[in-house]
Amino acid sequence: MDLPVKARRWGHDRDPGRTLARKYLLSGIARCGLCHTKIRGQVNQKWKPGSKAAKFTYQCSVTNGGCGKVGRVGDPVDEFIISLVLAEQRERAAVSAVAPAEQWPRAAELAAVEADLAELTQAAKAQKITVSTLLMLLPDLERRRDELKLERGRFNKERQQAESLTADIGEDFRSLPIERQQALILHSLSAVLIHPAGRGRRKFDPSLIEPVWR
Ligand SMILES: [Zn+2]
Repeated sequence: MDLPVKARRWGHDRDPGRTLARKYLLSGIARCGLCHTKIRGQVNQKWKPGSKAAKFTYQCSVTNGGCGKVGRVGDPVDEFIISLVLAEQRERAAVSAVAPAEQWPRAAELAAVEADLAELTQAAKAQKITVSTLLMLLPDLERRRDELKLERGRFNKERQQAESLTADIGEDFRSLPIERQQALILHSLSAVLIHPAGRGRRKFDPSLIEPVWR
């Protein structure tokens, strides 16, 4: 069923720039190549569906304490940075996939402590040692066991985080929530410097976009 013309006009065409307040991928990550102030995305209020103009730009802004001299059409910057980061993260994932799954290095030590504990308890049960001897020896071993278990927990948590990061790279990056996309970018990059383009330069020049790798 077609919407009446009036409803269509008021529902969809009214101020397309302002109705969808969106976050821009490199907001807070991009910085001006001249003054190094953080750059935010700015919607192009004149943009309409089908128009050739940029939907949004990254613009160094005087209001935010910047020089205001550097700006760039947004989409090609996003695409360039996404492709760089995905390539780097896939490469890293491939390297870690080739390496054998990393095991907690102190597993044997923990097993030995646990065996000692079991042996002592058995010895006391069998009356080979007195209970007071057992109680003298237990606390030290128990403390070592607990410390080792804590350390193993931390190790496994870090490994899981690394694995979930790798899993996200496999998904369609662009379908992830913007916060997740930003986290993935920040895992590889600490900033993206946008250098000034010469006057009259219309074509996007990736050499003026400088990723700062971590
Ligand atoms: Zn600036």
